[in-house]
Amino acid sequence: MFEINSLSIGALLAFIISYVSYKVKFLTIGGSVGTFIIGAIIFGLGGIIWSVPLLSFFISSSLLTTINPHKNFEVNDYLPKNRSRNFYQVMANGTIPTLIVILNLIWDKPFFIYLYISSIAAVCADTWGTEIGTWNKTATYNILTMKKTNQGESGGISIIGTIGSLSGALIVTVSSLIYIDLKFDYLLFVIISGVAGSLVDSILGASIQVQYLCPKCGKTVDQKKHCNAEIIYYKSGIRIINNDIVNLVAGASGSIFFFIFYLTFNTL
Ligand SMILES: [Zn+2]
Repeated sequence: MFEINSLSIGALLAFIISYVSYKVKFLTIGGSVGTFIIGAIIFGLGGIIWSVPLLSFFISSSLLTTINPHKNFEVNDYLPKNRSRNFYQVMANGTIPTLIVILNLIWDKPFFIYLYISSIAAVCADTWGTEIGTWNKTATYNILTMKKTNQGESGGISIIGTIGSLSGALIVTVSSLIYIDLKFDYLLFVIISGVAGSLVDSILGASIQVQYLCPKCGKTVDQKKHCNAEIIYYKSGIRIINNDIVNLVAGASGSIFFFIFYLTFNTL
């Protein structure tokens, strides 16, 4: 199964990545603890094959957030001031892939690696869609009502953002080809599952995700604090369904979409 040696190499690699990411402000201290836990399990138990998709998501998304010039001031009102990812944001993206790596050790089925890549493709598609879709001013629509919405509000989609999502799913899938011999049709299923997972994120963001109303600026936001105001009014959605829960479900849905493809065209 695995050796103590590979576990300690995995933990060391996870420690270096968490530490450097904290130092360059990709992560808060909590975010780096989460990254260490997830990284140590995935690198240690999964080895290089399972590490590549996770690393391509983590590095590309961190760089995208960091280089995002934030010239689009309208969007800045909706995004958290501190762009470093915290513990809950990291766990929202990494929990499903970590569980799949553990399940694969127990059952060793060929489809697990695809469920794994699909989940990471979904969270990467979501992150890339948000980053690229909010880069410049662009027409944004509510995914359910198709009415024009404020850019940066939950549940909004745009053409540029959708291209960003597709690119995010692509980078995870294509980087996986370095170590995994993916069949062409499965390659396609993974990419579609990733993009579909990011659409699930937008649909939940436009429906059941909790939204607050900032009393100072009057904007609808998904964070509890805004404009340094202590009192934020509940506006809509289910109170416990915050952005992290939505991201977790979106990551799971990426795997579920692939599993549906797998059951429909079972040739693995
Ligand atoms: Zn405000």
